[in-house]
Amino acid sequence: MVKSDICWMKGSEKDDCDFDQGGYFLIKGAEKIFIAQEQICMKRLWVSNNQGWTVAYKSEMKRNRLIIRLEGMSKDEDIKGVEKALVVYFLSTKIPLWILFFALGVSSDKEVVNLIDYSGDNASILNILIATIHDADDQCKGFRKEKTALSHVNKLIKATQFPPEESIDKCISMYLFPSLDSSKKKARFLGYMVKCLLQAYTGHRKCENRDNFRNKRLELASELLERELKVHIAHARRRMAKTLQRDLREDRAVRQIDYYLDASIVTNGLSRAFSTGAWSHPYKRMERISGVVANLGRANPLQTMVDLRRARQQVQYTGKVGDARYPHPSHWGRVCYLSTPDGENCGLVKNLSATGLVSTNILEPIVDQLFDCGMEKLVDDTSFSLEGKHKIFINGDWVGVCEDSLSFVLELRDKRRRKELPHQVEIKRDEQEGEVRIFTDSGRILRPLLVVENLSRVKSFKAKSYSFQSLLDKGILELVGIEEEEDCRVAWGIKYLLKDTEGKKPVKYTHCELDKSFLLGLSCGLIPFANHNHARRILYQAQKHSQQAIGFPTTNPNIRVDTLTHQLFYPQRPLFRTMTADCLGKPDYHFGKNEILPRPEIFNGQNAIVAVNVHQGYNQEDSLVMNRASMERGMFRSEHIRSYKAEVDNKETQDKRRKADDLVNFGKVPSKIGRVDCLDDDGFPYVGANLQSGDIVIGKCTESADHSIKLKHTERGMVQKVVLSSNDDGKNFAVVSLRQIRSPTLGDKFSSMHGQKGVLGFLESQENFPFTIQGIVPDVVINPHAFPSRQTPAQLLEAALGKGIACGGLKKYATPFSTPSFDAITEQLHRAGFSKSGMERVYNGRTGEMVRSLIFMGPTFYQRLVHMAEDKVKFRNTGPVHPLTRQPVADRKRFGGIKFGEMERDCLIAHGASANLHERLFTLSDSSQVHVCRKCKNVASVIQRSVGNGRKVRGPYCRLCETEGDIVKVAVPYGAKLLCQELFSMGICLKFETELC
Ligand SMILES: [Zn+2]
Repeated sequence: MVKSDICWMKGSEKDDCDFDQGGYFLIKGAEKIFIAQEQICMKRLWVSNNQGWTVAYKSEMKRNRLIIRLEGMSKDEDIKGVEKALVVYFLSTKIPLWILFFALGVSSDKEVVNLIDYSGDNASILNILIATIHDADDQCKGFRKEKTALSHVNKLIKATQFPPEESIDKCISMYLFPSLDSSKKKARFLGYMVKCLLQAYTGHRKCENRDNFRNKRLELASELLERELKVHIAHARRRMAKTLQRDLREDRAVRQIDYYLDASIVTNGLSRAFSTGAWSHPYKRMERISGVVANLGRANPLQTMVDLRRARQQVQYTGKVGDARYPHPSHWGRVCYLSTPDGENCGLVKNLSATGLVSTNILEPIVDQLFDCGMEKLVDDTSFSLEGKHKIFINGDWVGVCEDSLSFVLELRDKRRRKELPHQVEIKRDEQEGEVRIFTDSGRILRPLLVVENLSRVKSFKAKSYSFQSLLDKGILELVGIEEEEDCRVAWGIKYLLKDTEGKKPVKYTHCELDKSFLLGLSCGLIPFANHNHARRILYQAQKHSQQAIGFPTTNPNIRVDTLTHQLFYPQRPLFRTMTADCLGKPDYHFGKNEILPRPEIFNGQNAIVAVNVHQGYNQEDSLVMNRASMERGMFRSEHIRSYKAEVDNKETQDKRRKADDLVNFGKVPSKIGRVDCLDDDGFPYVGANLQSGDIVIGKCTESADHSIKLKHTERGMVQKVVLSSNDDGKNFAVVSLRQIRSPTLGDKFSSMHGQKGVLGFLESQENFPFTIQGIVPDVVINPHAFPSRQTPAQLLEAALGKGIACGGLKKYATPFSTPSFDAITEQLHRAGFSKSGMERVYNGRTGEMVRSLIFMGPTFYQRLVHMAEDKVKFRNTGPVHPLTRQPVADRKRFGGIKFGEMERDCLIAHGASANLHERLFTLSDSSQVHVCRKCKNVASVIQRSVGNGRKVRGPYCRLCETEGDIVKVAVPYGAKLLCQELFSMGICLKFETELC
């Protein structure tokens, strides 16, 4: 992983790229990232009422899993009032609960009931317990002796299909709650499980919710890599055992171990998993899942950052996913509510919110610290009562009890704030259940909150004195997990802490949010006034436009060879600021520093003066009119670099081949497939050569054949650089990059930050635009109809605020949820000498007359998107057809056609334009002719046959009727003829009814 501890770049003096944050993998030259996988948490008991009442002890090891189920004892489940009893499912067998208790060394029925510790006398619970005892009695007489119970359990386990090899004692110690060391403790834990189930049954405990984030863990690169590695290592081990066995059996000498171990299995397996994206399934051994690795997006630094913070939930069946797609209250501050793709992955692919961070596994044991805070050891005796004591769990394992859980938890949290416990430890006190749950495992989403009682420790407000880490170390900030947050009372912002509540008691907050906008994801938190917009527009900006905006992706483009990159010539910062944008940067970045740092420029675009107006009908339906003079000054101009790669064998592998005539080498030879004028003798074009479509980019040939790489008809450009290098597979390769500079042209796509996209409809001369009194001419004119139905007042606010800032205003922040008020914005505008509404008096550029209406004008941040007319334009007169169907191909690069689909067909039918339809779908597509025999109505084929005396005749002939007489020629689409033949091959014969007309 780039920038990890074992990365080459670790400790290097200068970064390759100043924007690069690392966190991705380089596999065969491609940048691959892991998408965090949402997985169900294994660290808690799982109470559910899906198919009957169950409580499950989950584990990744299948053998360790245990389920207690409340079952009807009668075979007919539907009968009401049937006795229900508790049964344990363990090691793929069904054990009566009571017998298992006695097998674990409990001595009496009373003791078991005490262990279960179900307070409150509920008749139905008593019935369940009595039924359970009866069930045990029916199955095994005299189970109350430990020996008898144990042997009965043994009998049950050994009778399964795949019985474990170990003895029963070992089975219990290894597979039944493996984290607990004595069987008395196991019995106690079993009792606790039963209690949870009974509580849920009587409605005193909630069933676990799959969609709650406290029951989820994110699997990151380490867990995912571990999983994949395990599979391949197991594979390599099996192979090793096989080859070793062969040598042992045949009495051959056994060689060194590395002779048998084939490391390439692991290497190849991993690199295959990375390149295909098929990753091993978490539970099912043979299955693979997709959507674990993806290519890192490099359109702009924001996209790179957003890609690295993506999480995904795998669902088994498409369609039946329940509430998984909906936002859940536990998403708050951890997962962005807004940014999720639309379509099939809606709600399943999530983005971490701005401050959400994923916990790592805490390796140091923290049990000793718990004893310091007043935890008592769990006694190894089942008769001992734990009345009134709270249970303490670490990662779902019962480690102890304590008398006063409140002070215990407070002291523990204090320790964490004093750095005596790791920051990522999560401490939850569940008063209702009488439990304290502590989590140190990986994959929990934590978020930083201000600790109110420690806020007084902030002494000075000098920016340099605090960084995120130092605030964390001082206990001013705290990382809070999902469950712990249930114990917190969090203030919306600092000002709510100081707010007087008239008459009422002031709310006592324990924590305070850093900023309101941090509950949104990165790409959402950047949108100015996002809280004023319609959610769908924010989604468009966050998921689509920000990912396609051309920016300045890396600071090292000269040493990178991406297949396709875009770069904006004059990227600008927007006039407004948002809190998220200010806080993004490198770890050592101190908030409030005003210098321009080399940090990821997450805004990708330029500030355009935008007028909301109609302009001679050239900005209808979301198109926009732009100022040609601005374009000529370099606005939205961008550079596009495309690289072409070719490989040849290097000297060593060439020598091995020894076949002189298929030696592939770079070089210039007169080529039949394209022009070679720009190539030097080595087969590469010189830097600065202007290549047009049809030119050869890299000359590569053998003695006999030409393998040169030619530019497609859509490609052209100037040679930017030529790179020669070699790789590990014994290949030399060359990369030629072509550069193209593009100024906006008609049809190019632009978007503001509010999901208001549009294409360029007209490039107007500057003098024809309306101008204000100061002589300001707009760069972009958009149509006012873009606003009412889209509900994006934020764009207007942005323009109004920007106008004030440009004229020296002080209100600069447009952070979502804490934006300046409407009045503040208009006031700032007014002070700058503008109308409060942001409207301006303008004069017609063509006539010089005053325009009767006022025009809204202001600086708005506009993004140039990667969709450009030059890449989209498609034309074809005639061209290649598919060899099988003889219909035109679809590929734009190969002069393909445009799809004329069903919808278009319906249009023409509705118009009654049937002749045109016939031309589209038949004459210009796959028109052809077949012969049909009128006698037998079959297709007759054209064959050559002899007609006596050595003469041969070629023509249509019906083999069925053995005649050539009554055959007619009909026009038929080639596709229909093909279908007919394909059906024929399956034994279905079509008959054609023909009619002369
Ligand atoms: Zn016939």
